[in-house]
Amino acid sequence: MPADPLHRGSLLQRLPLVTLYLTERCNSRCVTCDYWRHGRTDLSLAAATRLLPSLTRLQTQVALISGGEPLLNPDWAQIAQLLKDNGQKLWLLTSGLSLAKHARRATELFDAITVSLDGTNRATYAAIRGLDAFDKVCEGIEAAARAGVPPSLRVTLQRSNYRELPGFVDLARQTGARQISFLAVDVANPHAFGRTDDFAADVALRPEDLPIFEQLLGVLEQEYAEDFRSAYIAESPQKLRRILQYFAALHGQGAYPPVRCNAPEFSAVVGVKGQMQPCFFIPGPADAQLHGDVPGALNSTGMVALRASIRAGERAECATCVCSLWRDLDKIEGTLLPERLVGFGSEAV
Ligand code: SF4
Ligand code: SF4
Repeated sequence: MPADPLHRGSLLQRLPLVTLYLTERCNSRCVTCDYWRHGRTDLSLAAATRLLPSLTRLQTQVALISGGEPLLNPDWAQIAQLLKDNGQKLWLLTSGLSLAKHARRATELFDAITVSLDGTNRATYAAIRGLDAFDKVCEGIEAAARAGVPPSLRVTLQRSNYRELPGFVDLARQTGARQISFLAVDVANPHAFGRTDDFAADVALRPEDLPIFEQLLGVLEQEYAEDFRSAYIAESPQKLRRILQYFAALHGQGAYPPVRCNAPEFSAVVGVKGQMQPCFFIPGPADAQLHGDVPGALNSTGMVALRASIRAGERAECATCVCSLWRDLDKIEGTLLPERLVGFGSEAV
């Protein structure tokens, strides 16, 4: 039986992908992020239970479990079990700090796990994440791989780690990761990372870094060609060069890479207090508060208007977005499995 169409006019009838924040707390101390400074709240088991009938009605296929650090929610396993029993495929985005401890349970519950790893050694990791936990995170990746769900690694490229570009691919192999993906650190968007004040951290590549980064991209293309071909490196060489273009644009050297994104047409982000957003980077309108009713929030007057303005290219966030996602809405079935979405959701973890 063909699936119902996604849209009826400007209303969304289905929500194939939902991102659920399980907590605003985090045990990392990333310089790019404000969650760990201000986050206090967890999603409750009762609130998660109230979502289930709505997700069934909206035929949600994949729930991306994020935060903050989702494994800090004391009920993470019960919430994951509820969603799994409700028919959703589950994808965990984690900093990996407690993955070694939870590997067995996590691999039973999650269809895919993505670990954010921003250094290839203890010093770089600590400089970015604010913790001496590199070994612990590698241990978690290895434990999950041994337990049967090899994680994908996600690297947020920034000034303190871009020189390690090829080393990240080696590290992914050594730890048993199934794939690696790279994103640019987002410094153009004030709403990412729960920031509540001016974001002044000096994390982007500087003009003098750009030729070195370009050279390293060349090395990767030459020496890791097979990893591109096999998609072990999730992005194509062309897509990785967009990261260079992004950093160059930050310094007025050319335009930002063109963005094509319709993520808000088939997905939404739900915060721990029930506030819905159209994507990671654009805050939701005041009338998109869930109260257990996901379709109501998804099609509130404010959300419909917000989706229309995103579609019309009116949102400044989209012009500099590091994490756009495009899907053919007529053929969306099967394209939202976690392994097809490796680069999505750069804000979390
Ligand atoms: S381009 Fe980025 S900011 Fe714009 S809708 Fe897509 S994910 Fe959101
Ligand atoms: S970027 Fe992610 S891992 Fe780092 S403090 Fe923020 S939520 Fe935690």
